[in-house]
Amino acid sequence: MTPKNDTQPRDRVLTGDTPTGRLHLGHYVGSVENRLRLQDEYECYFLLANMHAFTTRADKSEEIRRDTIEIVKDWLACGIDPQRSTIVLQTEVPAIAELSWFFAMLIPFNRVMRNPTLKTEIESKNLGDTYPFGFPMYAVGQCADILVFRPKYVPVGEDQAPHIEMCREVARRFDQLFCHVDPHVDDADYPKTGGVFPIPEALIGRVGRLVGADGKNKMSKSLNNAIYLSDTPKQVKKKIGAMYPGQSRNPDEPGDPDINPVFEYADIFIKDQAAVAELKDRYRKGDNIGDGHIKLAVIDAVNELLDPIRTRRAQYAGAAGDDLVLDIIRQGTRRANVVAEETLAMAKEAMNLNFWRRRLSDDD
Ligand code: ATP
Ligand code: MG
Repeated sequence: MTPKNDTQPRDRVLTGDTPTGRLHLGHYVGSVENRLRLQDEYECYFLLANMHAFTTRADKSEEIRRDTIEIVKDWLACGIDPQRSTIVLQTEVPAIAELSWFFAMLIPFNRVMRNPTLKTEIESKNLGDTYPFGFPMYAVGQCADILVFRPKYVPVGEDQAPHIEMCREVARRFDQLFCHVDPHVDDADYPKTGGVFPIPEALIGRVGRLVGADGKNKMSKSLNNAIYLSDTPKQVKKKIGAMYPGQSRNPDEPGDPDINPVFEYADIFIKDQAAVAELKDRYRKGDNIGDGHIKLAVIDAVNELLDPIRTRRAQYAGAAGDDLVLDIIRQGTRRANVVAEETLAMAKEAMNLNFWRRRLSDDD
């Protein structure tokens, strides 16, 4: 990564979250940490993918609206700064919906359905075979979410890698088909040789896949296994306290830390890694160390991470906080629409759809 200096336009970063619930520890280590690191050096766009929340929760529009606001509160509490980064509401960026249609023409249907992340979601969220057409369509829509900002990097968790790969394929296909980019050029040279879209790169976080408190699945808002950034110390204690340590043993029996998800959390959240190594050593030997002891150390570490986040979050509590958040979303989305409309116009020109130039008006 080579950030540009102040005199040049900064490269862009895009990522986002679906408002299917509040943010959890998986978001923090999988993507938010990277966002915080990037927001000074890059032009960052953080998208609230509220349209995509309807793919699994069309009957819960009120909750989606609530979660949209709560996620922004989580972002602000983590340190996302709306002065430096642009917060964007997907449903008020019409260019995203339009590009989604164009991109849907460029991806074979079977290619979408083979996407392993979609398959896993269908299984883990018990969607059976009655999910709406819009569910697989979200994978196409996500290509538009990303490419509408023509970003260089997309900070995401591991589960998103297949989506980003599909997005890269779509960008190449578009540029080759409509902008006559030579298919043999390097990915990095697409815009230089006339392409509208860069080929963006995924930036996987420090922890690509944080396991949930169930010790099995990816920590996920929809799977009831999440430790939320807004959980109270008591809730954190209860959730970690109830984790199954992967084996049943007494404090003086040898155990295997590698199959114990609590140790996975210890590796990730306890800063003093020498202390973790010692705990593991004692655990392996059965040196009078119960699972409760390890859990307590992890609970303390998680609460230490969450304490300042809780404090900042409290500043946005209640209806006054909601109003502040709505204002931030509205201002960010207005800025985002300038870039999005520019991209859409470029894409339409390449597709010979430049009949006339439209202007969006944002009356508020
Ligand atoms: P849902 O259950 O509704 O899919 P989610 O918990 O998977 O919700 P998303 O909004 O889909 O959350 O994901 C937002 C971002 O956080 C993505 O970049 C995703 O890869 C990342 N992410 C989500 N869960 C984890 C996790 N457990 N570990 C690491 N990264 C994660
Ligand atoms: Mg997800």
